[in-house]
Amino acid sequence: MKKKTRTKFVRYLWKQMKENATALQIYSRDISKLPNLTKLLFNRTPDGIILPRTVEDIQRVYTLATETKTPIIPRSGGTTGFGGSIPYNKGLVIDCKGLDRELLIEPIDQTVTTSPSIIFSELQKKLKLQGFSLCSYPSSYYSATVGGWISHGGHGIGSIKYGSVVDQIAEMQVVLPNGESQTFNEKEDISLFFGSNGTLGIITEIKLKIKFDIPLKQFGCIFDSPVELMKGLKKLQEVDPFSVWFLNPSQVLAFNDSFGYNLPRSYVAIVSKEISYEAEELAFSNNFNNTIRKAGGQILDKRYISDIWDFRFKTFALLKEYPDFLVSEVILPIETSAKYLRKLAGLFEGLLRVEGELISNTHYSLLLYLPIEEPISDFKKTLLILKINKHVLKSKKIGGFPYSTGLWFAGYYSQIYGKEMYKRYKDFKKKVDPKNISNPGKVCSPKVRFFPLFKLKFVIRMASEFS
Ligand SMILES: Cc1cc2nc3c(=O)[nH]c(=O)nc-3n(C[C@H](O)[C@H](O)[C@H](O)COP(=O)(O)OP(=O)(O)OC[C@H]3O[C@@H](n4cnc5c(N)ncnc54)[C@H](O)[C@@H]3O)c2cc1C
Repeated sequence: MKKKTRTKFVRYLWKQMKENATALQIYSRDISKLPNLTKLLFNRTPDGIILPRTVEDIQRVYTLATETKTPIIPRSGGTTGFGGSIPYNKGLVIDCKGLDRELLIEPIDQTVTTSPSIIFSELQKKLKLQGFSLCSYPSSYYSATVGGWISHGGHGIGSIKYGSVVDQIAEMQVVLPNGESQTFNEKEDISLFFGSNGTLGIITEIKLKIKFDIPLKQFGCIFDSPVELMKGLKKLQEVDPFSVWFLNPSQVLAFNDSFGYNLPRSYVAIVSKEISYEAEELAFSNNFNNTIRKAGGQILDKRYISDIWDFRFKTFALLKEYPDFLVSEVILPIETSAKYLRKLAGLFEGLLRVEGELISNTHYSLLLYLPIEEPISDFKKTLLILKINKHVLKSKKIGGFPYSTGLWFAGYYSQIYGKEMYKRYKDFKKKVDPKNISNPGKVCSPKVRFFPLFKLKFVIRMASEFS
């Protein structure tokens, strides 16, 4: 960053700016640490980090950034593995976690107005005290924020009943890259920000739809093969579940290791249902058992259920036990993906762990992660990342697509959200950010640093093919 540009930011925000080497290093990665080889493609070390406290701070940051053509990279929990919150080519990371706002629960409308930086577990705790609950949430519940979830394009536990995050936003306030603060309350407008990875501005306030805190009861089942699992995912929709969450065989083994159990190497699914009365539970239980049998599955012994259900929040802790790990996510159609799922189970010597969530009548999401038990070379790590991404992209053949764009999948927006949506996105982006200062390099594929004849999407795809 030029000295003159730095001075402009420091003059206004000196107390809220960090430039020390440790901070720069922390903010140059998200949940997964990128290999050094990727420096050939992107320069991910920021010039500085800004911790805004108010909407006015963000407006000022965007005004200065537009004047000086400085890239602005919004960041909250930093829990995605798609590179959305790390710089593509330097710039200032805006850590939104300092954006505070008093929580306002409106019982009659069943909404909560909150800062986007609130972590899901904290928000849920506050809602529960008043008899309400989140409609759905990601399994990164203890570290992820509401604002980051919208920008990543979130689905989660509860999405089969209550939809994706777009269906749950009643209103939101955004500081656009042109410095204007605007409120959006039409679903059409709100959907523009879904999966936009902070390229359309910084969300500063959210009014989220909430629900009464109806007790959730869990039921478990086992499927021997992906074909049966897919049959199960289809049939289970008939019982109107709150969520259907499942583990692949290698994640079941990780669960066994953690809890000292001996569950078979198969697909284990936990179904959650909102149930208020005992009689309702009994009726549901009978219905559930019949449904699972018809799908070719078996009922899971009750003694495992609460531990497996708690396990949905343990992934983070488990990952931290390894010297390194790789993460990715993909969305797949139920109808055509059984073979693909079987193939995933056999990759990487059977070590790829998978957690799935039913997100609609037709699709489910998969969180893929590969723990790396022994330190490996930078080159080998790069190959492994490319290989995982290759399999995510290969899902196109069966109607699948990457979960979000971020940096790794920049250029795949229309595959994820459709061509019409992409046109709306691009028109809006041009209007509010003509100089492309808000999170450049994300969503739309940028040119490669040292080989500007090529786009990042092309280079990553070619490298993946040869991995
Ligand atoms: C173990 C694990 C489980 C996960 N489970 C799920 C899941 O069930 N469902 C799911 O959807 N995801 C899941 N994720 C991915 C991720 O944790 C979530 O999407 C999370 O909500 C992202 O929030 P964050 O605060 O960490 O965002 P960040 O990682 O900080 O940012 C994500 C994107 O949003 C942008 N951004 C951040 N804050 C703002 C803001 N205020 N305004 C505008 N843009 C902003 C960033 O630039 C970036 O592009 C999981 C990840 C892991 C590691």
